[in-house]
Amino acid sequence: MSTPGILQKNLDQTSLSAETAASFLEQVAKKVPGFDDAILNILTYSKREIIVEIPIRLDDGSVSVFRGYRVQHNNSRGGPFKGGLRFHPEVNLAEVRALAILMTWKAALVKIPFGGAKGGICCDPKKLSKTELERLTRAYTEHLGDNIGPYNDIPAPDVNTNAQIMAWMFDEYAKSHNNCSPAVVTGKPIEIGGSEGREEATGRGVVIVTKDLLKDLKLDISESKFIIQGFGNVGANAARILHYEYGAKIIGVSNVEGAVFNKNGLNIPELLSYQSKHKTLKGFPNSEWLTNDELLVQDCDVLIPAALAGSINERVAKETNAKVIVEAANAPVTIQADAILNERKIHVIPGILANPGGVIVSYFEWVQNLQQLYWERHEVITRLDKLLTEAYKRTYRISVENNCSLRESALRIALTDVIKSIQVRGF
Ligand code: GLU
Repeated sequence: MSTPGILQKNLDQTSLSAETAASFLEQVAKKVPGFDDAILNILTYSKREIIVEIPIRLDDGSVSVFRGYRVQHNNSRGGPFKGGLRFHPEVNLAEVRALAILMTWKAALVKIPFGGAKGGICCDPKKLSKTELERLTRAYTEHLGDNIGPYNDIPAPDVNTNAQIMAWMFDEYAKSHNNCSPAVVTGKPIEIGGSEGREEATGRGVVIVTKDLLKDLKLDISESKFIIQGFGNVGANAARILHYEYGAKIIGVSNVEGAVFNKNGLNIPELLSYQSKHKTLKGFPNSEWLTNDELLVQDCDVLIPAALAGSINERVAKETNAKVIVEAANAPVTIQADAILNERKIHVIPGILANPGGVIVSYFEWVQNLQQLYWERHEVITRLDKLLTEAYKRTYRISVENNCSLRESALRIALTDVIKSIQVRGF
């Protein structure tokens, strides 16, 4: 089904997310007007790839060197590059490239004026103290120099990074550039120019497009049973919004340790406070304890993978009876699993449509920073809903007209926009 991914051709390493990010490009691109080999070449390679070796002093006085990356894929549509920064022991160039490519499509699909980028530092943040994390973040920012900036490239939180990390980046950039524009990073704390609604934005976006698709499928969201894999920022916010705003029944939730499950529905307010008090889901009353593998194949209507790449594999694709799978994480569905799900007529909302809530509100944060004019929370949420619902409608319509998956349709729309921009600008 899939053609060899563009990243498999030219990468030093491949990873699941790399394959997944790239696998559809060539076959979908062939259907887009104006596509040719020159365009394929442009989109195959990143515009800029930066690798930095970052020595920092640890609290015990020793020195450790960490490898950091920033990949800027394509900004033909104009505007600065944009994308998150992740801290994880498995961060590598192949993965960061693949995620930067996804950001290019994401921004094009939801029509925000950014090119795709991604950054990462290969480290285990759980093993670093707060002061070590601060030194690492500041040193990474310094190493990137002028490659980031309010009109160049704007990092934001991603896996294992948060508002505090963004605050240190802003501070370091401001000092070294004699420039106090908070627009250099998004996802900042509110006190220093963060936007209302940014923290919950990815989870809220996941819920918005899920609600839209369920409506088109004539399924009642409040009657639907949800399983959410991953209970970090995205998964926990999606659960909270599904529960409080839509009265949905969430029957299973997991984190890296395992899963809590109750086929009659979990008490989400209690689960959220249990997690914040005990820092674990294990031992939550009125629930069964399952492994992640077991959770993913329990009976449900909507399965939301909100953890790392590759969790929805062939086994899950064959065994799940979910009607809808929503890619809240980046690239959780493997290429092989995607083919099985298509055959089984299980709807998959692709990550580039399901999870741009974060980057959309990052765009609003950037606009507010540049204008020095701040919006109220309801305005942020209303605008987010509008942009995502419009993207959803375009995607759904093209998928019906062309009898193709939402993944193909979303990529077709994004590619059409990027290709037109490349052509009209010339190269
Ligand atoms: N890390 C998020 C993503 O992958 C947000 C990126 C941003 O806000 O720039 O979409």
